[in-house]
Amino acid sequence: MASFWLEEPAEPLPRRTLAGDPDVEIVGGGVTGCSCALALAEAGLRVRLHEAREIAGGASGRNGGFALRGGAMAYDQAREQFGPAWARSYWDLTEHALRRMAELAGDAFRHVGSLRLAADDAEVADVRSEYDMLTSDGYAAEWLEVDDLPPSLRGRFPAALLHPPDGALQPARWVRRLARRAADAGAELREHSPVSSLDDLSAPYVVIATDGHTRGLAPELDARIQPTRGQVIVTEPLHELLFDRPHYARHGLEYWQQTPDRRLVIGGWRDAALEQEWTAEETITPVVQERIESAVRDLLGELPEITHRWAGIWGTTRDLLPLVGPLPENDRVWVSAGYSGHGNVLGFACGELVGRALAGDRDALLAGLAPGRTTA
Ligand SMILES: Cc1cc2nc3c(=O)[nH]c(=O)nc-3n(C[C@H](O)[C@H](O)[C@H](O)COP(=O)(O)OP(=O)(O)OC[C@H]3O[C@@H](n4cnc5c(N)ncnc54)[C@H](O)[C@@H]3O)c2cc1C
Repeated sequence: MASFWLEEPAEPLPRRTLAGDPDVEIVGGGVTGCSCALALAEAGLRVRLHEAREIAGGASGRNGGFALRGGAMAYDQAREQFGPAWARSYWDLTEHALRRMAELAGDAFRHVGSLRLAADDAEVADVRSEYDMLTSDGYAAEWLEVDDLPPSLRGRFPAALLHPPDGALQPARWVRRLARRAADAGAELREHSPVSSLDDLSAPYVVIATDGHTRGLAPELDARIQPTRGQVIVTEPLHELLFDRPHYARHGLEYWQQTPDRRLVIGGWRDAALEQEWTAEETITPVVQERIESAVRDLLGELPEITHRWAGIWGTTRDLLPLVGPLPENDRVWVSAGYSGHGNVLGFACGELVGRALAGDRDALLAGLAPGRTTA
C-alpha cells in the first residue's frame, strides 16, 4: 500500500531546462537533494537533480513525519562519543534548521515539540541523562513525571522528556515545497530519471543524495552505509486527539503521532525481526506489521481500521553520523547520506551544507562528518 503522505495530490513542478552545462548534478530528490539544489541555485550555480521516481518518493515521503533536533543518538551520547563542543555544534545546526523549516514549510510543519518516553525504569535513567545534559548546556527541555503525562500515557510510561523545538511534518508536502523553491531559484529537476552510473553525468561535481539507496553508485559507499527498512501503519481518523505531538520510546524503536485529522501514524518495531530489516527491499512484512498492530491495540484498547501500510529505506552508518562531503577516493563525488533513521531535519541541514561548500562556503562541522572517517 502507498504512503499516506505521498497520496496527497500535488501540483506538477515547474519544468526548467538549464541553459548550458550543469555545474553540479545531484542524484536523489528527497529532502537532501532538494535542499542541496536550493542552496546551489541560490548561490548562482547551474544545478540539475535526477530523481529515479518522483520528488519525495523515497524515505522523505515514507517516514514517520517527526522533525527532531540533534542526531540519531541522544545528546548525552553525542557529547560522550564526539566531545561536548562538537555535539553542541551538531545540535545547534539542527535547531537552526528547524527554525528555517518552520519558515519555509508553511502548514507542512507544525511546531508542537516531541516527547521522548521512557518505556521502563532502565530507560528512565537514559532519558534523564539526556535531559540533564541538554539543560546543563542551555538547551530547552522539560522533564515530565508520570503524573505530568497525558492520561493516554499514564501507567504505561514512567517518565518522559519534552523537546520543545521539535515538530511534526507532512513530509511529502514539505519536500515538494522545497523542490518548488529550488526550481523557482533555477534548478532543473528531472523526475523519473534514474542514474545507473556516475560516468553518465557530465558535471564537474556530483552529489549523491540517496540515503539508504546508495548501492551501485559508488562502491566506497556500499561498504559504509547499511540500507535499513522501516515500516509504518496509518489508521482511520480516531474520535479523539490523544497524541498531540510526535511520541517515541525505546530509543526510537517505536514511534507514533496523530495527524491534524486525528489519524494515528505509527511505526518502528524493527526489533520484531531485526536481521530481516537490514535490507533495501521496500516491502512490508507480516511479522513487523502484526507487531505494530498489537501496539495500536495496546495504545488505544481497540484496533481501528487501518487505511495505509508501507515500508521505506534509510541508510545507517557505524557511528550513526551521516557521511557528508567529498569521497576520499574521488573528490568529484560528494555525498550526503546515512542519517541513520533521523534525516528529516539533518537531511535538510546537510544538503544545504554540501550546497554551500560546493559554492565555496565550507562549514567547519563538515570535518567531523567526512565520508572517509569510517570504514565498512
Ligand atoms: C519508515 C521510516 C520512518 C522514518 N521516520 C523518520 C522520522 O520520523 N524522522 C526523521 O528525522 N527521519 C525519519 N526517517 C528517515 C528519513 O526519512 C530519511 O533519513 C530522510 O528522508 C533521507 O532523505 P534523503 O533525501 O537523504 O533520502 P531519500 O528521501 O531516501 O531520497 C533519496 C532519493 O534518491 C532516489 N534515488 C535512489 N537511487 C537513485 C538513482 N540511482 N538515480 C536517481 N535517483 C535515485 C530515490 O528514489 C529517493 O527518492 C524515517 C525513514 C523511514 C524509511
